[in-house]
Amino acid sequence: MSEAQVIRIMCPNLGCQRILAVPSHARGKLVRCRSCATNIRIPVMRDPALPRNLGPQDDPAFDAA
Ligand SMILES: [Zn+2]
Repeated sequence: MSEAQVIRIMCPNLGCQRILAVPSHARGKLVRCRSCATNIRIPVMRDPALPRNLGPQDDPAFDAA
């Protein structure tokens, strides 16, 4: 219970697709993308579609223009 885990999800908005980091206790809840204000439901289980080889830190330099 003392571990503060972070879940990374991708914004489903095709014009955004920003990686959002939310705390694990937000599972099953709705969060709002700060970039496009889309409501995103956090999956209860970990999303296996997101590999963990992106590095230990978030890279906000995602720009798919
Ligand atoms: Zn978004």
